[in-house]
Amino acid sequence: MPESPFDEEIRGFRLTPQRRAILRVLREAADHPDATWIYEQVRKELPHISLGTVYRNLSLLAEEGLIREIPLGHQPSRWDGRTDPHAHAICQRCGRVVDVELCLPQEVFTQVAESTGFRLLDARVLFEGLCPACQAQEREEGAAED
Ligand code: ZN
Ligand code: MN
Repeated sequence: MPESPFDEEIRGFRLTPQRRAILRVLREAADHPDATWIYEQVRKELPHISLGTVYRNLSLLAEEGLIREIPLGHQPSRWDGRTDPHAHAICQRCGRVVDVELCLPQEVFTQVAESTGFRLLDARVLFEGLCPACQAQEREEGAAED
């Protein structure tokens, strides 16, 4: 990949061609894809990559702080090329995950730290609801039933 926008290493973490391809796909993705989607995209460039390799490298990249994992419990995690602090909202109907520009006030951290005794390192905020498209669809379905 000669014209790669990414260096061979980021802070000593070796960017193999697989990792570089995963990073690029994720940073160019407008939403928050799951590993299967990322695998489909990366495969266009590296046809022999396996889904397992994509999973392993996603975890490694997240450990290095180069990407973020958005764990969703019973659903497959989503992955985010954006690593600066921000929250997310997920649509319960279509699964769309969007960025929420939210800066938690310091009092929230103080309250949590005081009530738990934790030294807080990170906070992930995930709102759940219905996205505008799904709200419109629900209204249409409601109208059709009448
Ligand atoms: Zn939706
Ligand atoms: Mn995000």
